[in-house]
Amino acid sequence: MEKSGRKDEKIEIIGVTKTVDVEQINEAISIGIKNIGENRVQELTKKYDIIGDKANYHMIGHLQSNKVKYIIDKVELIHSLDRMSLAKELNKRAKMNDLIINTLIQVNVAEEESKHGLKVDNVIPFIEKISKYHNIKVKGLMTIAPYVENPEDIRWVFRDLRELSSTIKAKDYKHVDMEILSMGMTNDYTIAIEEGANMIRIGTGLFGKRNY
Ligand SMILES: *Cc1c(COP(=O)(O)O)cnc(C)c1O
Repeated sequence: MEKSGRKDEKIEIIGVTKTVDVEQINEAISIGIKNIGENRVQELTKKYDIIGDKANYHMIGHLQSNKVKYIIDKVELIHSLDRMSLAKELNKRAKMNDLIINTLIQVNVAEEESKHGLKVDNVIPFIEKISKYHNIKVKGLMTIAPYVENPEDIRWVFRDLRELSSTIKAKDYKHVDMEILSMGMTNDYTIAIEEGANMIRIGTGLFGKRNY
């Protein structure tokens, strides 16, 4: 933490609970995990029905527009806002529920074919376009770095996201906060934190290897 030069800043841990059963999640909650992350709507709502408000729910996976209605009033934060059609639906459903939906823009920094997210150059135009959606708040940025043996090789990904975040912050948009940088998973979170992450998403590091 010394290296990041932000000794006092809090780092929020999202326990990634995809494929993890409710019993194990309750155990994690009892030892202090407050935030849980799911990447599938059906799994999230199923767990929400059992666990309820003992946890805050984070949608961290690709979100289909037609499923927004199932989670709009259940999630604390959507990490995967990556296109106009989704913004439109989120805004519509948030409005219907009389709430402001908190989101992160997902950025595909490394431009991997297999991953969702906006390219770095498209993020600012996107943020400007969604300013018309008054029920969406942009709280920051999220990225999933490529999987590599040595996470030093992807330090640049986290650095680029942090720099983009600073650039956006300086523009002082009304509908944007830029207080969250959601980056870093089990394999690479130490590097992500050094580069400014204040929200990390940990699955296997907390719950062990997933059985799909
Ligand atoms: C599964 C997943 C994680 C957690 O990955 P681990 O390597 O198990 O820590 C983090 N973020 C997203 C978006 C995921 O889908």
